[in-house]
Amino acid sequence: MKQNIAVLGSTGSIGRQTLDVARELGLSVRALAANRDIIKLESQIREFHPAIAAVFDADAARSLKIAVSDTGTRIVSGMEGLIEAACEESAEVLLNAVVGMVGLQPTLHAIEAKKQIALANKETLVAGGALVKKALRKNGVALYPVDSEHSAIFQCLEGCHDRADLKRIILTASGGPFFGRTREELCNMKAADALRHPTWNMGHKITIDSATLMNKGLEVMEAGWLFDLPEERIGVVVHRESIIHSMIEYKDNAVIAQLGTPDMRIPIQYALTYPRRYPSKAAPLDLASIGKMTFFEIDPETFLCYKACREAMRRGGLYPAAVNGANEAAVALFLQDRISFNQIGDLVYETVSSDYSGDVTLENILAADRNARDFVESRV
Ligand code: MG
Repeated sequence: MKQNIAVLGSTGSIGRQTLDVARELGLSVRALAANRDIIKLESQIREFHPAIAAVFDADAARSLKIAVSDTGTRIVSGMEGLIEAACEESAEVLLNAVVGMVGLQPTLHAIEAKKQIALANKETLVAGGALVKKALRKNGVALYPVDSEHSAIFQCLEGCHDRADLKRIILTASGGPFFGRTREELCNMKAADALRHPTWNMGHKITIDSATLMNKGLEVMEAGWLFDLPEERIGVVVHRESIIHSMIEYKDNAVIAQLGTPDMRIPIQYALTYPRRYPSKAAPLDLASIGKMTFFEIDPETFLCYKACREAMRRGGLYPAAVNGANEAAVALFLQDRISFNQIGDLVYETVSSDYSGDVTLENILAADRNARDFVESRV
């Protein structure tokens, strides 16, 4: 088990559950990082005594520095600070749970610093998958998925003796709060309606992504990088109860699934303790009390973000970074009630018909991300 960990995005939902797991397992938390919630971060610093804590927002970092001046924790800020926290000397593993593209550079730096990676930041692989894979190979570093679907696939594949036997993987999707609605029914949806998720309790950005099914599209692209599979070998089925976390299908049509109560502490813990298993605070699965499970198909014409992700994945190159950037900008505008729910999908889908050809370098990825955001903002 990895004893020393760094946690980026520690005040978010995944970050807090990671600290629950760290507390239970007695792990040492060497670095913390948050966007700007310094109240929560201060209490985490006082409990876990990290060597370093990063706050992305510079003003918030200054306030925190004064608040925790009686502790031994060094406070840093900005992208530089985030990278410093990701590479904290004594940490053996980085659990990256920041939201958005901002997670890419810290992940790349941590891989260069030979940290094992537990990845909950899907945008990192979506936008920079080629760079991340290259860096992992070069540095002999392992990356463990934290996302529940990808952890499920990872666990199912542990029984796969030859990858030539694998036909495809099947990700499950909760469907989000608007599943089953038509485009017409969705045109008046407000941020408050989308923020009610049926199963998982998450941050605002991922909850909107779950309502638009962008989240599933991002996960399809993430799975492509994690498991070296093309778009057509990654299926998705809506499963409202979120009990089956994902499945793999072999050539002989045998299907292996990973199940459990929907509790992120299980995949978080496994990413930190792999290949061992330890007791968890997550409730055991009681299938008889669940009674039945249901499955449906996604309608890509209603959920255009999902369709856009699949097309971006087929095009490859800088398209995934572009659709992700467009979505980050569109979600921010939707949360401010400046665009409608359907406009998120329209704007993200428009991105795939623009020109995002070019070599996949960090510079070009960041430029594609910026251009896609500028495009979305220019349309409002
Ligand atoms: Mg997920």
